[in-house]
Amino acid sequence: MKIFIATKNRKKLSELERILLPLGFEVLSIKDYPEEFPDVEETGTTFSENAVLKAKAGLEFSGLISVADDSGLCVDYLGGAPGVYSARYAGEPSNDENNNAKLLSKLSGVPKEKRKAKYVSSIACAFPDGRLFTVEGECHGYISEYPEGNGGFGYDPLFVGEKGPMALLSPDEKDSISHRGKALKLFSEKLKEFM
Ligand code: IMP
Repeated sequence: MKIFIATKNRKKLSELERILLPLGFEVLSIKDYPEEFPDVEETGTTFSENAVLKAKAGLEFSGLISVADDSGLCVDYLGGAPGVYSARYAGEPSNDENNNAKLLSKLSGVPKEKRKAKYVSSIACAFPDGRLFTVEGECHGYISEYPEGNGGFGYDPLFVGEKGPMALLSPDEKDSISHRGKALKLFSEKLKEFM
């Protein structure tokens, strides 16, 4: 079954591809199209609203069943911020290094027990016949006081989950505990119901 992954974020795309390919999907993405995938304005106030906007844009672009992830980091001490603004926390254009520096400065002097955080991934799937569904996965941990590791992307050098610092994990280890890995497991189960 052909599925279009609606994202321009190359690192996120490679995570989505490596989880969806072994499940037997024929995965297409912006790499397979000469035209540029349009920027989708993330006007939603929740991850799932934004995921739906992106999946619908993917469907319009490709004509195929389209899947999109909207994800981010929610820090308890910061009242759930950066949340849906995770990609642009330190302003636009999105810059992981600046985002991480801003997060560290906001949490400066905050003790470990108050640095609890979670990643959330909402995956939306839009069908050419107008049907739509969303699923969500979470990954709980805390924000370290210093960056560690080169793996993953985004806030991974600062996020410590159940298997340790996220950016030190292998791709397989990350997928086994990550918000995106969990959401995609639910996605493939739900997709079977929809087919
Ligand atoms: P989106 O592309 O609008 O969904 O923004 C996602 C943003 O959330 C990314 O740019 C990262 O800052 C953050 N994020 C989401 N998932 C992850 C992850 O697995 N690791 C690290 N940061 C993530």
